[in-house]
Amino acid sequence: MHRMESTKQNRLLSAIVGNDAIRQRLAHSLRSGTLPHACILEGPSGSGKHTIAKHMAAALACTADKSQASTIPCLRCPQCRKVLDGKFPDLILIGREEDKATIGVDTIRFLREDVHVIPNDSDHKIYIIEEADRMTEQAQNAFLLTLEEPPSYAHFFLLCENAGMLLETIRSRAPIFRTQPLTREQIAEYLCEHDDRADQMRRTDPRGFNELIAASGHGIGQALSYLEPKHYTPIKQLRDAVSELLRGGIEHADAQVLLPLLLRYGNGKREALQDFLLLLLDAVRDLLLLKKSENAPLSFYANREEAIALCDNASLQSLYRLHEAIQAALDENQRNVNVRLILTKLALDAEWI
Ligand SMILES: [Zn+2]
Repeated sequence: MHRMESTKQNRLLSAIVGNDAIRQRLAHSLRSGTLPHACILEGPSGSGKHTIAKHMAAALACTADKSQASTIPCLRCPQCRKVLDGKFPDLILIGREEDKATIGVDTIRFLREDVHVIPNDSDHKIYIIEEADRMTEQAQNAFLLTLEEPPSYAHFFLLCENAGMLLETIRSRAPIFRTQPLTREQIAEYLCEHDDRADQMRRTDPRGFNELIAASGHGIGQALSYLEPKHYTPIKQLRDAVSELLRGGIEHADAQVLLPLLLRYGNGKREALQDFLLLLLDAVRDLLLLKKSENAPLSFYANREEAIALCDNASLQSLYRLHEAIQAALDENQRNVNVRLILTKLALDAEWI
């Protein structure tokens, strides 16, 4: 296995944001030539599993001068570009077919044959198995045969949310790396370092900046795209509408007041109503969590103090009822119930606060 001795310690995989401990462990294994043939990346959706696996693939394929490049992978050379664009022939994505709930043995049989075809463009062949915890037992056993005697150039990254679903025999051959979603602070820091618009917004409109970070969930890509007003404006309008509606709902627990508000925001296309209701559900879930702990992680609200103040004015029971009513509205929307009827029911049923 080749070593990356000439790469300075702080340069290897340094473009990965967050998950510092994993980055360091993997960088060490690349540098010392001890990268295992298989690694399990376990973590919730959006916690960087794909990014880490792709950066590892790029690091193995990168052709930049290791002593000159500011980071490895450089993410600029033709090999790195191909990896990032999904066009690198020696990086193979394995996953579940769209209409199936599991990864079956046929898919793994393909992998078992393909792995013996030597790499085209590099010294390595990298397989990323998405949702590896959805491999059937038969598929896992087939995979195990490859894992017992892999060609020297082969590397497997098994991405999953729950490594407990993998056979013990696989887990004993592949170290588990547990990924964590990026915090809002990490996303904010990254944005300000990489985009002047973000830095300026943080200085001139800190409140708006925090809102933008909260709106982007855990994703840097999303946050970067929101720096473009054309992407962010519709999201911001929807978020403002949800905030206003909940504030209104808690201040005036009266369907006469709420219905016109709901009809104004939610009226229109079915998909728009879906987005609106999902966001409303996130916001109510935040308030429910705050009832349990003021330090609960929030997914909708950017400003914790404001959310706590709102939460203090609502009873736990009424928040549960509202949560149920929104879920019922989501179901009805899926079942093509008339939009106006859904919203009218929501205004009346929730008894809001
Ligand atoms: Zn490169």
